Amino acid sequence: MASKNLEKFLKENLQDLKSRGLYNVIDPLQGANGAIIKISGRELINLSSNNYLGLATNERLIEAAVKATKKYGVGAGAVRTINGTLDIHIELEKKLAEFKHTEAAIVFQSGFNCNMGAIGAVMDKNDAILSDELNHASIIDGCRLSKAEIIRYKHSDMDDLREKAKAAKESGKYNKIMVITDGVFSMDGDIAKLPEIIEIAEEFDLITYVDDAHGSGVLGKGAGTVKHFGLSDKVDFQIGTLSKAIGVVGGYVAGKKDLIDWLKVRARPFLFSTSLTPGAAAACIEAINILTESTELHDKLWENGDYLKKGLKALGFDIGESETPITPCIIGEETKTQEFSRRLNEEGVYAKSIVFPTVPRGTGRVRNMPTAGHTKEMLDKALAIYEKVGKEMGII
Ligand code: PMP
Repeated sequence: MASKNLEKFLKENLQDLKSRGLYNVIDPLQGANGAIIKISGRELINLSSNNYLGLATNERLIEAAVKATKKYGVGAGAVRTINGTLDIHIELEKKLAEFKHTEAAIVFQSGFNCNMGAIGAVMDKNDAILSDELNHASIIDGCRLSKAEIIRYKHSDMDDLREKAKAAKESGKYNKIMVITDGVFSMDGDIAKLPEIIEIAEEFDLITYVDDAHGSGVLGKGAGTVKHFGLSDKVDFQIGTLSKAIGVVGGYVAGKKDLIDWLKVRARPFLFSTSLTPGAAAACIEAINILTESTELHDKLWENGDYLKKGLKALGFDIGESETPITPCIIGEETKTQEFSRRLNEEGVYAKSIVFPTVPRGTGRVRNMPTAGHTKEMLDKALAIYEKVGKEMGII
């Protein structure tokens, strides 16, 4: 018999979320997550995917995935440490290490899993983690799982970080101290102040951990935020995801060989969850081949990002302080933000609203993710729709 207590809990809480405009409705796509998507039979200009370079639908990746699936099957059959390590997993790890300019790399099933495993593999209850207050949910959860003391510092506030690092070091309470940050913050598109973070880390002997989910493929001519600042040999953990610019699925840590060897025996998702599918591994290898051959897709992404930003700004929208192609359109109040997104959708643009708890209360936004796959015509059409709906709702 179903628990009455659970039923009551769910009913009350779901109703509460819906009445406050905080319930996230999921729209299934009837085809690929490209620049144009189809939902409920309608074609929409897609400004909501993380498919930055358009690689999710790239023919070379599809062919590589099909070929590997035919050779190895659809599943890897076991966790990596039993017999789920295929030669293409090793090839992918080698390619990632080269791509990130590190000695070695380890691949996980997702970026989220990577943070679940990597942090707790080195940090424990006798340690402390200095964490930017706007870090991604998977970083927060990974920190919690490690049982280390979490010390949050104000977003990208280097004085606050320095003060907290100094206090933690001088307390003598901790065996190890780590500083952990997103490379690019996905809700605002701003870049972490890595040169200052590294300087503070060197002063107080901090372990450095950069989750570059949104920077890889986008900054540093594709190699990421750490490369963008020329700090490849100064960051201990370079985290990436294979699901955004790379266009597939998976996550990885790139770093020194000893660190990667340690993660291979201690990171729990690596030890206890089945490895990346053969098709995904092969497609990721092909994606990295494409990124190392040419910067064409990267350049197109930036061109499109700049074009959309300029257009929205000229219309009078508040687009925040993004330093990357991520373009938020800040509306503020949650229900208004959701209504704006719904109206854009009716007119032909899919740009998802992002509200509390993903961003702080009162800073609801429609977040635009232009990609290399968009054409100028698509972006012009999207801007015309933004203008119409923005005027209609009194936002511009
Ligand atoms: N870290 C950051 C900073 C992210 O933005 C994301 C994706 N939302 C993840 C990790 C999780 O990556 P994945 O989707 O590969 O699990």
